[in-house]
Amino acid sequence: MNIILFGPPGAGKGTQADNIVKSFDLFKFSTGDLLRKAIRNNTDLGRKIKSLMEEGSLVPDSIIDNLITKILSDKKYYNRLIFDGYPRNLDQAKNLDKLLNNYNQKISCVLNLEVNKDLLLKRILGRLICTKCGSIFNKYFKPQTNINHLCGNNSLIKRSDDNEKTLINRYATYLDKTLPILNYYKKLNLLHEINGEKEIDQIFEEIEAIIASLEA
Ligand code: ADP
Repeated sequence: MNIILFGPPGAGKGTQADNIVKSFDLFKFSTGDLLRKAIRNNTDLGRKIKSLMEEGSLVPDSIIDNLITKILSDKKYYNRLIFDGYPRNLDQAKNLDKLLNNYNQKISCVLNLEVNKDLLLKRILGRLICTKCGSIFNKYFKPQTNINHLCGNNSLIKRSDDNEKTLINRYATYLDKTLPILNYYKKLNLLHEINGEKEIDQIFEEIEAIIASLEA
């Protein structure tokens, strides 16, 4: 089973991808996480994409296509992927289909997390990430306490692209480049709409039910 998690920045794709990984025998492929890691490690790739990511623009398709080709050619991930933040435009979506076809696989479903713009802004501008354990908190909705987080306040940081200026561009890029892909998947009958404004656990219950129905 290969699943695409779709939605605007802040829709909760990463959170739900992690939930799916915990319950099903699948792997998360997050292009955003891989690109941020390249920047942290100051690799050639990281230096090339840093400014693009900081301004909220997409990095070139050739870079993304390389990342995905590596993953799909690895037998460990055969038919066991959750795509988080990918594909991001129609060319990436078409290339993904072509590659999956080459490796004898396909997309099982596309889960679209729908969230209104005001809520997205609050989720992103309030987001705090722990550099030690990777947990995600939110100063409005899920503040860290000494009960829910043992690493403490000092290890919490904001993602460098989680600021108001970058967010405007990230959202505009989403509307212009990414949202049109939905129609592509709709025509292929793969699309499931999910209300991403509900509680994390409620959303996950809905996702679990969809995955279970596809496995049956
Ligand atoms: P969000 O969905 O909240 O914007 P991501 O971590 O998915 O966060 O992406 C952060 C940034 O990484 C994007 O703004 C973009 O610059 C880059 N990026 C991630 N995935 C892709 C992709 N598939 N194609 C091009 N750029 C990408």
